[in-house]
Amino acid sequence: MTANELDTTTRVLELKKISKQYGSEPAVHALVDVDLSLERGEWLSITGPSGAGKSTLLNIIGCLDRPTSGSFFFDGIDTATLSDTQRAGLRSQRIGFVFQSFHLLPYGTVLENVMLAEVYRKQDNRGRRDRARAAIGRVGLSQRADFLPGKLSGGEKQRVAIARALVGSPSLLLCDEPTGNLDSKSSAAILDLLEKLNQEGLTLVVVTHNKEVANRAARRVHLVDGSLTDVTNGENGKRSTGSPAAPVKTTVSQSGIAIRDLLNEALAGMLARPVRMMLTVLGVAIGLTALVATVGLTRTAGNRIISQFDRVAATELFITAKPGKITGIVDPKAIPWDAPTRLRRLNGVVAAGTMSEVHVGNALASSSPVRDPLNQTAFKLSVYAASPDLFRAVRAELETGRLPDAGHSSRADRVAVLGPDAARRLGIVSLGQIPAISIGDHLYLVVGILRDVARRPELLGSVIIPEGTARHDFWLAGPGRVVVETKIGATYLIADQARLALRPDDPQVLKIEVPQEPKRLRDEVQTDLSAMFLLLGGLSLVVGAIGIANITLIGVMERTGEIGLRRAIGATRGHITAQFLLESGSMGVIGGVIGASLGILIVVVVSAYQVWTPVLDPAAPVLAPLVGGVIGLLSGTYPALRAARLEPVEALRN
Ligand code: ADP
Ligand code: MG
Repeated sequence: MTANELDTTTRVLELKKISKQYGSEPAVHALVDVDLSLERGEWLSITGPSGAGKSTLLNIIGCLDRPTSGSFFFDGIDTATLSDTQRAGLRSQRIGFVFQSFHLLPYGTVLENVMLAEVYRKQDNRGRRDRARAAIGRVGLSQRADFLPGKLSGGEKQRVAIARALVGSPSLLLCDEPTGNLDSKSSAAILDLLEKLNQEGLTLVVVTHNKEVANRAARRVHLVDGSLTDVTNGENGKRSTGSPAAPVKTTVSQSGIAIRDLLNEALAGMLARPVRMMLTVLGVAIGLTALVATVGLTRTAGNRIISQFDRVAATELFITAKPGKITGIVDPKAIPWDAPTRLRRLNGVVAAGTMSEVHVGNALASSSPVRDPLNQTAFKLSVYAASPDLFRAVRAELETGRLPDAGHSSRADRVAVLGPDAARRLGIVSLGQIPAISIGDHLYLVVGILRDVARRPELLGSVIIPEGTARHDFWLAGPGRVVVETKIGATYLIADQARLALRPDDPQVLKIEVPQEPKRLRDEVQTDLSAMFLLLGGLSLVVGAIGIANITLIGVMERTGEIGLRRAIGATRGHITAQFLLESGSMGVIGGVIGASLGILIVVVVSAYQVWTPVLDPAAPVLAPLVGGVIGLLSGTYPALRAARLEPVEALRN
């Protein structure tokens, strides 16, 4: 520490021609040319009628307000040169405030209330508890350290307030009607305590209406209409001889609060009224639950529809011939034989094959080659003619054997493939014995048995023979139906092009079946499900935001005294804003966490109930608390700013 950082002045206060003026037209002259100085160890009382300017003077002495003109030195430091945070620093380190209505936080113990004194002191909190205990000891309340203020008498509460003001050995104890709320016995005890502290060397300024209280001070000044008159002669005032004036530091550290302390204060502020906090949080929680659940359920439902369609329907297309307008009869030659070849030329077609029901008259199918009208092994089975590519177009899976190829068809070979149901009815389980079946007069070699088809399930119970064979054996006139598999998303394009590709001469003779557009269906489901819940969720969020704003605003009003106290012990307007924003923001975040959890739970439960696969957005657990926090911050902004604007001394009045 260098020499010029120290000052050996014995003056704690020095006011030179201090004036304070409020407004301009008309201007209120709250203080007029006040000269006042106070030596270390003095006890000064200030009296005066209401409206005389006592609060104004107290505000200036307490570094809570700046004078309009004049100069004010505190511990030899020109306060005009200090920034707001440095003045807050002075308050927290060198001035102890004691007020008429104690201003203890009801939710903290005596010890915690006294420890609050150091929160805005920007020093590390080691030893904070011990320093607080020492201060409590000085006011004789060691036995009550762990009591809540509610259990203390008025006199004891004021002792706690004094202990809080003593932490860190201030240069000045500033008391505003310290006995105003106390009975005469407690008053006397507090005055005795103040006297003891004064004798130990503490400098005191006491503002009071009470003559008895004023008379305990060695020096008394009286304020009338902003002007000061010294009642005692300043030179005659007794001064404490307790301790010699020690040099004081002339550098001023800023006030500040550690993040941990800020979090603790905000948490304590919220937990002080737990039920109210939970009800406030509920609004945001409900809103976000609705939003998370809606988005999750919509996605889950959407996903379910996509997967159902995606496999088959989204890629399939069927072409048949329309019945003639006049005749009402389907022209069997409407679809050309080379339809698959023509369609395959279109970009987007994966496979195309024809499939025609073969009219076999009364012919029965039988696995026995012997014709026997009484033979019970003969059935009426449907017979289909297939072009070689049909099997791909219907996504046929083979159980055993092989599928007929283009050669079988062009040579009109008598081969057949059986659907699994047809094979079972015919009693054919394997191809080991080279089974054959008869249809009417003809015998067909079974070359394969199907296991399943994804499209056209009628094939499962049928006998399928090559198209060329059917033309030869049963005079098949033309393909009955074309089955097309397209690439995903190409169905509608192909549907447009297929008519011209197959029948440029008469496109309207063809009938094209496309699946209902899955995307459109999904959108419908989504809109149905979402619109209302999104609206409800949004509405809830607004209600939640208003709730937070409302509760925070009520909190600010209720906690006026607390806010004043925090300002007095060193909080800047910024610190007050930060604490209230942190409280409202945290309520929003808590609402968000609850909302995200409940929303996800709802999606999972509904999915389990519907046997759907839940689709959860991994961003939801992060986003919901974030949204909640932003809502909390936004709705807390106005109350927080109002809290910061409060004038501390007025806030502390009652
Ligand atoms: P006291 O505390 O002695 O009752 P105050 O210091 O509160 O007196 O007020 C002194 C005078 O200044 C009063 O006339 C009061 O109306 C006026 N005054 C105080 N604060 C303000 C303000 N913020 N704006 C305008 N006038 C004020
Ligand atoms: Mg006043």
